[in-house]
Amino acid sequence: MFENLSDKLDRAFKVLKGQGTITEINVAETMKEIRKALLDADVNYKTAKTFTDDVKQKALGENVLTSISPGQLLTKIMNDELTALMGGTATEISFPATPTVILIAGLNGAGKTTFTGKLANFLKTQKNKKPLLVAGDVYRPAAIDQLQVLGGQIGVPVYANLESKDPIAIAKEGIAQAKQNGNNVVIVDTAGRLSIDEAMMQEIEQVKAATNPHEILFVVDSMTGQDAVNTAKVFNDRLDFTGVVLTKLDGDTRGGAALSIKSVVNKPIKFIGTGEKMEALDVFHPDRMASRILGMGDVVSLVERAQQQFDEKQAAELQKKIRKNKFDFNDFYSQIQQIKKMGNMKDLMGMIPGVGKMMKDVEVSDDAFKSVEAIIQSMTPFEKENPDSINQSRRNRIAKGSGTDLQEVNRLIKQFEDMRKVMKQMSNPAAMANMMRRMP
Ligand code: GDP
Repeated sequence: MFENLSDKLDRAFKVLKGQGTITEINVAETMKEIRKALLDADVNYKTAKTFTDDVKQKALGENVLTSISPGQLLTKIMNDELTALMGGTATEISFPATPTVILIAGLNGAGKTTFTGKLANFLKTQKNKKPLLVAGDVYRPAAIDQLQVLGGQIGVPVYANLESKDPIAIAKEGIAQAKQNGNNVVIVDTAGRLSIDEAMMQEIEQVKAATNPHEILFVVDSMTGQDAVNTAKVFNDRLDFTGVVLTKLDGDTRGGAALSIKSVVNKPIKFIGTGEKMEALDVFHPDRMASRILGMGDVVSLVERAQQQFDEKQAAELQKKIRKNKFDFNDFYSQIQQIKKMGNMKDLMGMIPGVGKMMKDVEVSDDAFKSVEAIIQSMTPFEKENPDSINQSRRNRIAKGSGTDLQEVNRLIKQFEDMRKVMKQMSNPAAMANMMRRMP
């Protein structure tokens, strides 16, 4: 996410890094580079100019007061200003009524239907809501199917009326059904088009008028850069939406839409999509995003992702096993599954301070665990439960069975044993305290 932009900003900062103080001259030079980086990221010209003017003024103003280095001062100012540019604080959706009605709008291909499913999943698992999805895209039968499949996957009911071609009636029927069945949130997916289209706008205006939604979320593909911003403007002029959803941020190396949308339409980005899976949705936090863009990582989001996947009962059991040195390959396998659920690997690594920059050219595929999984799957139940039993001939068999080689199997078993040792140590408070004392 945003690798190109981070890289270019980093280079822009270099101008100041070797300098003792901030001067009109060196700050002007740095700002020129930063503006170039922003324009390359597809941020619109006016936004980029205002932004760099503001940063420059602050840098010159604060320069006198601080004793920190120009590089550090600029990082801090950039962090504050990028945060403000993207909206300051996170804005979540609110639930003022039962049922709360949320209308989803956007062009075809933006990721509307996928987001509709992700949002329902988020509300169900993170906010304890009972959502109902309404299939309002009557022009694409495939869209109705897609929503029904997603609903099935996440265990959320879907209201569809295959007989009807009237999205307004369908939306109303959906809300009535939600009331009847005790669903406290109704998410209405609407029809899109390939481009802005008067008939589509009129239709969605009518759906809005008929349903009185509490939230209208506009979904847009972040990879389309300034186009995303322009489309947002047109939709906002007609619909006066309450928030933006930026999808496909996992593939967006530039970040122009994320940086410009708030300043152009003055509506907050509420969610970001970071993958195709139902879990790949994050509440948008401008401060955390700023920190990621500046290569400072985002530990808070990383911890939150981990917590979302964290099953307390399972963790307690695991701890017991670790204490008794009974951690086995079954546990190892289920840990891998949990990590995989946290999301795209490269994305996760980008949240660790410093690692994103280091890893930017490294191919990290989500298949990173594939051979490890194959090796574990080729073990017999007895071997999985008794890692110490895996002798040479068993290793040979496992390598063959998993389509890997002996070296890989040996490496995995060695890693597993090392991990077991560390875990055992960490589960013993005295040993842990001892270890901490020895740290520099
Ligand atoms: P709609 O036409 O607006 O309803 O778009 P869809 O929901 O059908 O999404 C279009 C394509 O984009 C599908 O292949 C989705 O899997 C994909 N997609 C949606 N959101 C994301 C995302 O956040 N990241 C990635 N990588 N793909 C996404």
